[in-house]
Amino acid sequence: MLVVDKSKEAFREALKSIPGSVNSPVRAFGAVGGNPLFIESGHGCYINDIDGNRYVDYVLSWGPLILGHLDKSVVKSLKEILKKGTSFGAPTELETHLAQLVKEAMPSIEKIRMVNSGTEATMSAIRLARGYTKRDIVIKFDGCYHGHVDGLLVQAGSGATTLGVPTSPGVPQDYVRNTVTIPFNNLDAVKEVCNNRGEEIACIILEPVAGNMGVIPPKKGYLKGLREIADKHGIVLIFDEVMTGFRVSHGGVQELSKVTPDLTTLGKIIGGGLPVGAYGGKSEIMDCISPVGPVYQAGTLSGNPMAMASGIATLEKLKKRGIYKKLERNSKRLAEGLKRSADEAGIPTYHTRVGSMLCTFFSEEEVTDYESAKRCDTKRYASYFHGMLERGFYFAPSQFEAAFVSTVHSEENIDATIEASCEVMKSLRN
Ligand SMILES: *Cc1c(COP(=O)(O)O)cnc(C)c1O
Repeated sequence: MLVVDKSKEAFREALKSIPGSVNSPVRAFGAVGGNPLFIESGHGCYINDIDGNRYVDYVLSWGPLILGHLDKSVVKSLKEILKKGTSFGAPTELETHLAQLVKEAMPSIEKIRMVNSGTEATMSAIRLARGYTKRDIVIKFDGCYHGHVDGLLVQAGSGATTLGVPTSPGVPQDYVRNTVTIPFNNLDAVKEVCNNRGEEIACIILEPVAGNMGVIPPKKGYLKGLREIADKHGIVLIFDEVMTGFRVSHGGVQELSKVTPDLTTLGKIIGGGLPVGAYGGKSEIMDCISPVGPVYQAGTLSGNPMAMASGIATLEKLKKRGIYKKLERNSKRLAEGLKRSADEAGIPTYHTRVGSMLCTFFSEEEVTDYESAKRCDTKRYASYFHGMLERGFYFAPSQFEAAFVSTVHSEENIDATIEASCEVMKSLRN
């Protein structure tokens, strides 16, 4: 049995001061039961909890740590910054450097603005798209997550064209009046909405590989189809690559799919573990933001030196030849092994993977959208999660999240994970 007495005590103590003991809800073990582990340190692909247990980490701070914990060059860069100052509220060359590294990887980005989180990036990109098109309506997709932006916390009404419903108290109906929610991977539904209301629609925003309802790749032709619809109606196409940028490949989903968005939102990896978000795209659109244009957006700590330095060190390393090849090889090995472990135990699962993000859905059917994702056996996932945790493998405490592989997970780590998965899958039979 895993001994987590200190975590239990820390949890009780935290509850007195912090709602649910966490500063972001997904960290609580709400979906799997039990209390969250309190983490003391991380190194490479491992994290250590305060009871002294060590785990192979497949959460990686929910994606940013593609180089693992305490990467040497990231740490070195941060130490350099600490000799000079942590924030000035004036331009630094670091900001230009990170901007250039992003542009190199994603040619669709001609200009870019740094912000402090993925949420801020999507919120600002939507404001920009609305200011640029002088239209109000936003199309989003059921199960795609773009941060906790008011107007995007909405779920579809009964039909694709009916009014959406806020998914959180505190979001006025008025705020979601201009959001249309459509099932993911259904091009006809998008066509229908755009044919009816094309001139009112400012932007289509999506995760081009969905990663926040488990991992769901786009169907063949889906992204290209969205590009065509957007072009036809003068709609700004926004790829939210906060998770997928520098994750599924160096240039994100736009590189893999060869479909070019007008705007891209980024976060996670481009901060290398420090708080960063960014949005960028065509100059013509980006030049609408202040101080060049009239669309207002600002930030006291935006582009701050610590975050820039961490991002630069991370993106510099990701340029190394062969790094994504190795990630691909190891991720494929893991995904195939996990599938084999389920198949051998006779546990019905559906596996998805794009690059180093992957998912085991406890489902007898294909998972292609939010509806099919919701039909998964989440109780079984919870048992699987705890079985893996006990054996020293830290996956996300929810069925609807991705597992991430880093550049420092070794073949040995992965084979040990698969072996543990074989045991746990067998234990799920009864
Ligand atoms: C994580 C995530 C966000 C939100 O980023 P935060 O930094 O948590 O605000 C937005 N979009 C996608 C696709 C994400 O995965």
